[in-house]
Amino acid sequence: MTTVFDLHIHTQKYSDCSFIHPEELIAQALEAGLQGIALTEHGMRWPDEEFARLENLARPQGLVLINGQEISARNDKNEMEGDFLVFGINYSLTGRYTACELAGLVHNHGGIIIAAHPYKLSRRGKTHYYGAGDKIYQLPLDAIELYHPDHSSLAVSKAQKAMQKLGIPGVGGSDAHKIFDVGSCVTLFDKRLENEADFIEQIRRGKARAEKRH
Ligand SMILES: [Zn+2]
Ligand SMILES: [Zn+2]
Repeated sequence: MTTVFDLHIHTQKYSDCSFIHPEELIAQALEAGLQGIALTEHGMRWPDEEFARLENLARPQGLVLINGQEISARNDKNEMEGDFLVFGINYSLTGRYTACELAGLVHNHGGIIIAAHPYKLSRRGKTHYYGAGDKIYQLPLDAIELYHPDHSSLAVSKAQKAMQKLGIPGVGGSDAHKIFDVGSCVTLFDKRLENEADFIEQIRRGKARAEKRH
């Protein structure tokens, strides 16, 4: 059986830029035919108690919730090094990290790190990205966000090239900040995933593929 997850979602509870109410999110994820969603707020992870409350709503309806976070890395000159989705770390990463430090820290804690929208163009022009760009070639990543609403076809082909070179899977995430964007880009797994540990294992084994839905 195929399991469909949206791995990149922001809620209004912890991301000021989002309009998504957490309880509406559960309903919309089910409506969109998803079996799992990851919460990836900016610079923080949902507190365990709050997360458990939401999970108690989702799980009986057959929806798996994953508690991740989206971290912006900065180099020593305080310049952006891109956004990264982090899973399997049980606290919020509030410090300042270079992309390399972040990857090391995540792996030391048994987690995984995924380059978020590596080739999403910034307003500064053609070679500036909100993601890590070609820096991904220098990082020990576990996956690359291949399908993202702001990835052009050129961005997708660049990400595919990196996946092949690095031998890591591509995933899809909606980066939803509005409710109807949930599930626009997704990640498919060939087995049923019950929890975060299953999810991490499948990513590590490269058993994931990305799909753009709308
Ligand atoms: Zn981002
Ligand atoms: Zn995001």
